Amino acid sequence: MEFIKNIGEKAKDIGEKAKGLTRRSGELLEVTKMRYEVNKLEKIVKNNLEAIGELSYRNFKGEEGLGEEIQRLNQSTQGLEKEIDMLNEQIAKLTPKPPICPKCNAELPEEAKYCPACGDKVTE
Ligand SMILES: [Zn+2]
Repeated sequence: MEFIKNIGEKAKDIGEKAKGLTRRSGELLEVTKMRYEVNKLEKIVKNNLEAIGELSYRNFKGEEGLGEEIQRLNQSTQGLEKEIDMLNEQIAKLTPKPPICPKCNAELPEEAKYCPACGDKVTE
């Protein structure tokens, strides 16, 4: 019976691991999507800034009726920047930080027993 129980335990173990993996790849997918979104928003910001520049210059040269459009673009750009900041914060939260050696602050490979930089034993 011990044998059967062991198989059961193993299956459970694999199940737990798979669950962990699915959750993790889900988060990675989210991060990828958010990075893509940040990229898109940054491009819009760049376009907005270009347009603001051009409109401001035309405004400076005396063209009339541009104030409202400049104002609208400034506001929309500020909103986009806030959105980018929020997305970047979320990305940072979901991106796991590598473990760091407590002695020399070098980044440690996952499940390292010794620090590759200073050779210190790594304790959890
Ligand atoms: Zn170290």
